[in-house]
Amino acid sequence: MSIAENLKHIQQQLPECVTLVAVSKTKPITDLQEAYHAGQRVFGENKIQEMTQKWEALPKDIQWHMIGHVQRNKVKYMAEYVSLIHGVDSLRLLKEINKQAKKHQRVISCLLQVHIAEESTKFGFSSAEIEEVLSAEEFTSLEHIKIVGLMGMATFTSDEEKISREFNSLQILFNDLKTKYKQRSNFDLQQLSMGMSADFPLAIAHGSTMVRVGSSIFGKRNYN
Ligand SMILES: *Cc1c(COP(=O)(O)O)cnc(C)c1O
Repeated sequence: MSIAENLKHIQQQLPECVTLVAVSKTKPITDLQEAYHAGQRVFGENKIQEMTQKWEALPKDIQWHMIGHVQRNKVKYMAEYVSLIHGVDSLRLLKEINKQAKKHQRVISCLLQVHIAEESTKFGFSSAEIEEVLSAEEFTSLEHIKIVGLMGMATFTSDEEKISREFNSLQILFNDLKTKYKQRSNFDLQQLSMGMSADFPLAIAHGSTMVRVGSSIFGKRNYN
């Protein structure tokens, strides 16, 4: 199937309130153009340099989401245009995003990445660490960032019960934090980013509002 057909097929499975992030990492500009012409406006990349090259080359009404691990020294390259950063996993990184956003006189929306997988290789906060950040006085003073949600990645496994448990734990944390910290001006949980090609229907069943789908749209990635 073509990229346009794949997009249509996936959109048909998404409730209206769920945003589809088309994960285009490693894919050529022509693939993104095809998705764009099919109506897709939200793209996800995991390398800042690659995302910036694509941003420069493509129409300016695209929303660029950084979904990968972010190195602090590279935040400056995307601060001008990035629309959502999914993988925020430290207060130090938030402070750098705040600093760079201020230079461009904007507020950058961020998601806090939560470690939900039982695997040890994935990045992210524990729930205790998130509460530590949200209670820190320093956090309250960050006026150029806004935490708009949480992001999580389930274990890479075919064990659906395990994936369900992991998504469920993130949904519970999301609902807890949403009520507990609702007074903060830079914190307003709206988005729960979870679900990829293999597990997005399960993620939606657990309250996902944003799915990050790559290979089911663009085909397998070639990392060579
Ligand atoms: C690559 C990637 C995806 C998309 O994965 P697919 O299995 O190709 O849909 C989603 N989220 C993150 C964080 C990724 O790095």
